[in-house]
Amino acid sequence: MATIVTLECEVCGERNYTTVKSKNMTQLRGKIHLKKYCSRDKKHTMHKEVK
Ligand SMILES: [Zn+2]
Repeated sequence: MATIVTLECEVCGERNYTTVKSKNMTQLRGKIHLKKYCSRDKKHTMHKEVK
């Protein structure tokens, strides 16, 4: 079973991405933090999972 989560830029708060998170991944890693390109900041920033 997979869940769709939203990824939010930690710099400006823009919600740039959605991703699919598997249940196994949740148990192993907890909250997702990924380095992604933010179109508002025009650079790569850390993005965190939001509900
Ligand atoms: Zn941003």
